[in-house]
Amino acid sequence: MGRYKVQVIRDKCIGAASCVAVASKAFKLDDQQKAVVLPTVGEESDDNLLLAAQSCPTAAIIVTDTQTGEQVWPK
Ligand code: SF4
Repeated sequence: MGRYKVQVIRDKCIGAASCVAVASKAFKLDDQQKAVVLPTVGEESDDNLLLAAQSCPTAAIIVTDTQTGEQVWPK
């Protein structure tokens, strides 16, 4: 397991799927074209999870550091 936890704010997600392109083990689009976090999220590196969150045009992905409890993204 990595250090970062990711959550998708569904109301903000517009289905742009850049998160899926960057981290396909962490995110997929559901049948409403909204991103969901996959059970295989732990197979992605922390760097990649952060990149995926940063690639989201609406900043719909929240990244939290599980050790400090700090929100890493969006800043
Ligand atoms: S990049 Fe953002 S808007 Fe696009 S699918 Fe992922 S969470 Fe949704």
